[in-house]
Amino acid sequence: MALLQISEPGKSTNPHERRLAVGIDLGTTNSLIATVRSGEAIVLPDEEGRYLLPSVVRFRAEGSPQIGYPALDASINDPMNTIASSKRMIGRKTADIKSLRDQLPYNFDDESANVPRIITADGPRSAIEVSAEILTALKKRAETSLRGNLGGVVITVPAYFDDAQRQATKDAAKLAGLNVMRLLNEPTAAAVAYGLDQGSEGIYAIYDLGGGTFDVSILHLNKGVFEVLATAGDSALGGDDMDRLIAEWLLDDVDDEELSSNSQFLRQAMVSARTAKEALTENTSTIVSLKLPDGSSREIVLDRTTMDEIIAPVIDKTLIPCRRSLRDAGLDKDDIDGIVMVGGSTRVLSVKEKVERFFEKKLYTDVDPDQVVAVGAAIQADILIGNRSADEMLLLDVIPLSLGIEIMGSMVEKIIPRNATIPVTRAQEFTTYKDGQTAMSIHVVQGERELVSDCRSLARFELRGIPPMAAGSARITVSFKVDADGLLSVSAREATTGIETQVDVKPSYGLTDEEVEQMLRDSITFANDDIKARLLAEQRVEAERVILAIQSALDVDGDKFLNDDERSELVKGINKLKELTDSDNAESIKQAANDLNQLSEVFASRRMDASIRSVMAGHNINEFSE
Ligand code: ADP
Ligand code: MG
Repeated sequence: MALLQISEPGKSTNPHERRLAVGIDLGTTNSLIATVRSGEAIVLPDEEGRYLLPSVVRFRAEGSPQIGYPALDASINDPMNTIASSKRMIGRKTADIKSLRDQLPYNFDDESANVPRIITADGPRSAIEVSAEILTALKKRAETSLRGNLGGVVITVPAYFDDAQRQATKDAAKLAGLNVMRLLNEPTAAAVAYGLDQGSEGIYAIYDLGGGTFDVSILHLNKGVFEVLATAGDSALGGDDMDRLIAEWLLDDVDDEELSSNSQFLRQAMVSARTAKEALTENTSTIVSLKLPDGSSREIVLDRTTMDEIIAPVIDKTLIPCRRSLRDAGLDKDDIDGIVMVGGSTRVLSVKEKVERFFEKKLYTDVDPDQVVAVGAAIQADILIGNRSADEMLLLDVIPLSLGIEIMGSMVEKIIPRNATIPVTRAQEFTTYKDGQTAMSIHVVQGERELVSDCRSLARFELRGIPPMAAGSARITVSFKVDADGLLSVSAREATTGIETQVDVKPSYGLTDEEVEQMLRDSITFANDDIKARLLAEQRVEAERVILAIQSALDVDGDKFLNDDERSELVKGINKLKELTDSDNAESIKQAANDLNQLSEVFASRRMDASIRSVMAGHNINEFSE
């Protein structure tokens, strides 16, 4: 863009003062924090040089909570107060996690509470508070190593997270005192880390096998616009399952009835199994030392081939969602351009082998699979905070499902269509149905289908105080606003009185992964090729940006730098572009925006010269060259 933004006198910032932006991978098992330094993304280590922070928090009766490795160590002896995998509970209602609760060792507070809370030695804690502790620890790590205050963060979340889970993640960040610039989908972050957003169009599978969860996403990347075509997975499948199988194998060797019911011993065996598994990615054989309750220990040899046999069922199980995601996206293995490997468990050699054999495509494994999500988040954070030049593509996410309201006849009127790039604001006018109607009930729904009953209900609210009028004469504007994180707020305003009500559509806590997946699947069935629509949306946004910048520069000092002819040429260009933005011809909008940009170059360079002159006024040129 030709116009330079010139800052006001006294407000100019030191060009060397970079704003600190970080990316956070808030994982179920491990969390990481990364930043971009000298153009390169780096993951920040703790004081002992470790990159991972185990997502485990231990609450104690006295003293502050332990976070990370010390908490992980304590979990063997103090499981009730040591909360792991809080991500599984975040944004969920008590009712949603009934079956999960049975598998967890914790005591839950008051069954009837809407949000589940775990009773700890330091009082009840929700998943949001536990996550906030983890985020706080990462924030401290960054502030210590970067020596400054963080300007903003990007936090990653699974692609299937619903509004409630996203909102809860943001709430946790707020508790930790972080300024969240954007929530980013984990698979998208991984693709960004590999620079796949910079390349030409492509379709990639992101295979993410972590400690306790498996996710596979099929992404369509096109000029910085990311579209999730399908997501599938298993929320109870991961490295922990490998550990369990290996531990069982180890226990076969011990052959002691009493031991197999000693839960502390079993937890210890799981830890030994995990250590052995991790060692076997480097070595072909390892010695597991199993601590027995009597203080003695048993050494058992485990080789890689044996381990591969033991854990094979876990890996095979991941291929089921892989198949499903392809089917849901309506794609064939041949359509996939590459597989991005994410998550610590993809270090296991036989995982890589099996995935490669399944897709018959190139695996992306160069970036550390533990770090790849955090790295992508850091790159995005660096762009969002403005440390990179504007021509570096800002990636845009799209709305996965259309948003609308219920109208007469239990029909849905869509206000924001699926695949609109976010952030986005759209409004539509509605009117009353009956004579003298003084209230209107607004039902916000999400989905692709025509009937309300086929869509998901997001919120209901009422606009009251409409002056009594004949049916059809009131004018009520309903506006939908989706912010960069995909969170929706809806407002309704009556024109004559100006009365207004507004809701932030906060979660409807409690869609299951399956339900979200199902909705995505349904929407895909209905999606025809609307890449064009997206490109058009992008061009419009760009055109509006150009118009705004030139218009405001004209208002400030157009008179000073332009003669009447030049000025009216520019105004003509602006008007032409304005007119075109209403059309749906992306190509001509782009052309007009480029033309206008070129037309403004003279103006821009005169403004630039003048600003340099004013900076130098009263100074000697030598002062500047020093
Ligand atoms: P999450 O995304 O769930 O937080 P991670 O991506 O950090 O999880 O993955 C954690 C899992 O990765 C654990 O099960 C851990 O044992 C496994 N893992 C880490 N390093 C290795 C390794 N070298 N070999 C095998 N598994 C590993
Ligand atoms: Mg992860």
